[in-house]
Amino acid sequence: MQVIETLDHMRAARSALRRPIGFVPTMGYLHDGHVSLIHRAHAECASVVVSIFVNPTQFLPGEDYERYPRDTPRDLALCEKAAVSVVFAPTPAEVYPPDFASYVEVTGLQDRWEGAIRPGHFRGVATVVAKLFRIVQAERAYFGEKDYQQLQIVRRMALDLCLDTDVISCPTIREPDGLAMSSRNVYLSADDRQRAVALFRALSAAQSQLLGGETSGSSLSSTMKDLLVKAGLDVDYAAVVHPSSLEPLERIGREARALLAARLGPVRLIDNAPLRPATWSETQK
Ligand code: AMP
Repeated sequence: MQVIETLDHMRAARSALRRPIGFVPTMGYLHDGHVSLIHRAHAECASVVVSIFVNPTQFLPGEDYERYPRDTPRDLALCEKAAVSVVFAPTPAEVYPPDFASYVEVTGLQDRWEGAIRPGHFRGVATVVAKLFRIVQAERAYFGEKDYQQLQIVRRMALDLCLDTDVISCPTIREPDGLAMSSRNVYLSADDRQRAVALFRALSAAQSQLLGGETSGSSLSSTMKDLLVKAGLDVDYAAVVHPSSLEPLERIGREARALLAARLGPVRLIDNAPLRPATWSETQK
């Protein structure tokens, strides 16, 4: 496994890799969710490139950029075990030299939900992903549904800018009690870790209510919000949206997505799930 820190070395390394290349962008502190993306990339590609980069431009002032969890030796061991071909771990100065001045915006999609609460966040995400896509030039890139809005934004951007990397979505990997795996879960106190399962319970409650015949988006949103509040979480949003435009849905006809964001003390968690009425099955897609 090669560990590469500069753009020039990454460019040189990519031309020696067997194709197709599968690319897994991460911010490190890897867990089984990241590993699932690496395994999927392996199943579909001849080489796998993982990037580890805590991207400063996607953190707002006052957010947790400085204290975002980092453990490079452990990450490298996990990548080695998962037979990754190249780990690309550039420094911030390598990605953002002092005269850096170009940013990517995915208008509309970037302003909703996470974007409304964290203005500028998705500009940072889209910019770094565009840059990484250009440097790695993979045939496919693997993203988790865990960050559902990010996935839609990256997919839109790759299409709009002809980046020639297919964006592949992978299911959310969860702890046994349903909590979505996240690098930020390490911040949770023991009590808050117990409470955090409310996110998964809220998503499950909305799905059950839909199967019971309730198709009003606002009723399902209220169900989720009430459940989170009762569990002691501060809710940023609990929404039922169209799966690709992310616009709120008043009536669920075919398929929708439930999106949640809530805070437990200093920790902010997001989660989401598909919502499908009983009459809608995978085969109808
Ligand atoms: P991050 O390191 O948090 O920026 O995440 C890197 C990639 O891993 C993104 O595509 C995430 O959506 C994905 N990811 C994070 N957590 C999970 C999870 N629990 N299940 C599946 N994918 C995940």
